[in-house]
Amino acid sequence: MIRSNCVETFEQWRTEARRLIAMKARPSDVHWQTDPDQLSLFEEGTSGSDSRQVSDRKTNEQSVPANRTFTVPQDFLKLAENVACHRESGRWALLYRTLWRIVNEQRELLKITTDDDVYQLTQMQKAVTRDVHKMKAFVRFRKVADDPETFVAWHRPDHRIMRLAAPFFARRFKGMRWSIFTPDESACWDQTSLQYGRGVSASEVDSDDSLEELWKTYYASIFNPARVKVAMMKREMPVRHWATLPEAGLIPKLLEQAPARVEKMIETHEGFGQTAMHFMPSEMDLSSLAEAVRQCSACDLCQDATQAVFGEGNPSAQVVLIGEQPGDQEDVQGKPFVGPAGQLLNECLSQAGIDRKDVYVTNTVKHFKFIQRGKRRLHQKPNSREIYACRPWLEAELSVLLPKVIVCLGATPSQALLGRDFRITRSRGKLLQTEWCERTLATWHPAAVLRMPDESRRSQMQEQLIGDLQLAVSES
Ligand code: SF4
Repeated sequence: MIRSNCVETFEQWRTEARRLIAMKARPSDVHWQTDPDQLSLFEEGTSGSDSRQVSDRKTNEQSVPANRTFTVPQDFLKLAENVACHRESGRWALLYRTLWRIVNEQRELLKITTDDDVYQLTQMQKAVTRDVHKMKAFVRFRKVADDPETFVAWHRPDHRIMRLAAPFFARRFKGMRWSIFTPDESACWDQTSLQYGRGVSASEVDSDDSLEELWKTYYASIFNPARVKVAMMKREMPVRHWATLPEAGLIPKLLEQAPARVEKMIETHEGFGQTAMHFMPSEMDLSSLAEAVRQCSACDLCQDATQAVFGEGNPSAQVVLIGEQPGDQEDVQGKPFVGPAGQLLNECLSQAGIDRKDVYVTNTVKHFKFIQRGKRRLHQKPNSREIYACRPWLEAELSVLLPKVIVCLGATPSQALLGRDFRITRSRGKLLQTEWCERTLATWHPAAVLRMPDESRRSQMQEQLIGDLQLAVSES
């Protein structure tokens, strides 16, 4: 048995895994050490057999060719970086076994989604991704100093995800000085760089509450009593996070006032902005989401449309195609891309050598927006309020699917994922990184191709769409 050096982070695992691969250490022969206390006891050689193992390992290390190099697919490194944050104690052994198999047996192993190791790693990656998503939603900063203004937040994630989530906060709150503490690790942003430090318990965090009061005022103003469903609130804002959410203290009082406020809202037709987060199911899988979206009324589009149209396709798809919204026929049939634009998409997929059954197809907004003209229902572009309200459904789909490549069809999904300044005419077909996927590209919506009056321009756009789909699949 070969005992690894103590491993607590992805970087340490990578260094150790390189060394073990160079030693040709078989996964079944490696015991992964994760407790530094145990390791130091072991290194002192208090047991005869342990001493021999240390000595064997040192001999092996000396005989390892230092310059033995190997490469692994980029996707594996990304997967390993995520899985390293999972709390499952067997993660290092599982990662090493998979690495060993990629290096020595099957370089394309990650493409075999039915493989037990690949499946287990993918499930762990999904759990970590969802936890990062929750951290982004539930962290609340409190001001603890005025000069310079400094904010703190405390959060208890399910997994060790601080280093995955902190860059998001650095981008979002670039101009603030802040620290986020978790029991595992802390992150501090001084407006220029991120520093990581030890974890802290909730009681160690200073409790100046000026930002808390600000947040409470804000929360009370957006609290919508007409939507109150206590069980759903607990799912969306899990009770174990309530201690760190200042607005949670307001909930009993707001609930008490709810009936009177609902009456007032009915009288005045008052409405508050909200998003589809209020309608998320407790189970984050595609079928639960597809069921839950049918109840969504987070914006007015549900009032005139026939039904919500959720995404559809291969649940293990590597490529996800995102359109704008369902059209007239999609609205009637309850399926995405089944009208004329869908037929053109099918034709383009086929010319690109892609079977539609292998991809997943969805829309940015799930209800059809239209104006009635006689018997016809004319498509209307969703506005930013509707796109914002519907975004949680798309984000939930992406966090379940974790695609290798996202293809945005048209301006609406492109701007939703790549920013409002994004222009297809400038950046069509370029592989770009987004929060959801390392390879996101934007191309023409098939409906835009169909609407193009100039025939030669239309066939050029169609060729470009086919080329972009081919690129997407080759990158997946
Ligand atoms: S468009 Fe989206 S947010 Fe609006 S009601 Fe439909 S599903 Fe909900």
